[in-house]
Amino acid sequence: MRPIQMVDTRTQYHKIKPDVDKAVLDVMESSAFINGQPVRDFAANLSAYLGVKHTIPCANGSDALQIAMMALGFQPGDEVITPSFTYIATTEVIALLNLTPVFTDVDPRTFCMDPVQLEKAITTKTKAIVPVHLYGQAAPMEDIMEIAKKHNLYVIEDNAQAIGCDYIFSDGVKKKTGSIGHIGTTSFYPSKNLGAFGDGGAIFTNDDELAVKMKMIANHGQRTRYYHDLVGCNSRLDTMQAAILDIKLKHLDEYITARRKAADYYDQAFGGQPGIRIPFRASYCHHVFHQYTLILEGVDRDGLNQFLSENKIPAMIYYPVPGHKQKMFEQFGVASQSLPVTDWLTERVISLPIHTELDEEQLTYITTKILEYINQ
Ligand SMILES: *Cc1c(COP(=O)(O)O)cnc(C)c1O
Repeated sequence: MRPIQMVDTRTQYHKIKPDVDKAVLDVMESSAFINGQPVRDFAANLSAYLGVKHTIPCANGSDALQIAMMALGFQPGDEVITPSFTYIATTEVIALLNLTPVFTDVDPRTFCMDPVQLEKAITTKTKAIVPVHLYGQAAPMEDIMEIAKKHNLYVIEDNAQAIGCDYIFSDGVKKKTGSIGHIGTTSFYPSKNLGAFGDGGAIFTNDDELAVKMKMIANHGQRTRYYHDLVGCNSRLDTMQAAILDIKLKHLDEYITARRKAADYYDQAFGGQPGIRIPFRASYCHHVFHQYTLILEGVDRDGLNQFLSENKIPAMIYYPVPGHKQKMFEQFGVASQSLPVTDWLTERVISLPIHTELDEEQLTYITTKILEYINQ
């Protein structure tokens, strides 16, 4: 059996190696390392895939969130509502820009923002909502957009974990996550569903004015070279990464199918087993399984983790400390905040290996071992 990894980017590369190698060599030959044609091609192809008007490539998913928030013209102290149960990049940027993060609880089934809790967190200082499509499943965007409209708030979708996920509105209209809010952001970190061979990110919007502003901010605030109208930053997707991503984008739907197949295999094995809850699949979207995350109820997580590691099966806790308990946010007095679902999940979740290259032998081994531990 091939060794089991959380993510197997090398085997994935080997399957498209001739195309990737040629694309990289072409960039080297052209020597257009920055803002080469592949950057524009990839942005156009990604816009078409997502059904969004503008894609602005940038250096990583954290910058994407930062540029989005800089473009919306918030003032220090303005409040941004976000889940506590997410990767730190979502929430850190809020504090970095001297805004106030307001943590809200999640739905225990979807792991995503709970609209009822969201509405309770809105104050006169609230300016924006940042839902996260965690583990590859969409937050309930229809409800979130309705609440945002009612209270006149911006919505920035953190789509780093769910690129390619279809959201189905109650009238049957389908949209890709990242194209629904005022702005969407994503990351091309190598382990993400559309991963580069290094860092990368992108911002999405259907708003022409915001697009111009965000493009300027990502490029030292200039529209015309050496004329700097806005305070910005330097955040670029380099040409080589864009060339690789453009090839991988053509395979994204295949990659999603492979991830869902692995998830189906796990569901079959674990469904109905006492002590473990398989991931809930919301009917309003098409889960793209960036992570396959179980909730353990009555099964000792540390014990299972130890057992898995002894059997050479990697597993991860995403995330061991929720945002409101992180030291960096102590200044906001959120440590004592009551987010019961977030705290409950933080103690019970465990993510299993999931990627595009898991074979049946590996999946059988993983599920057999886990069932052996649970039923011992
Ligand atoms: C990966 C990730 C980010 C940040 O992306 P980087 O490219 O690592 O900066 C932001 N939000 C979420 C939810 C992520 O998973």
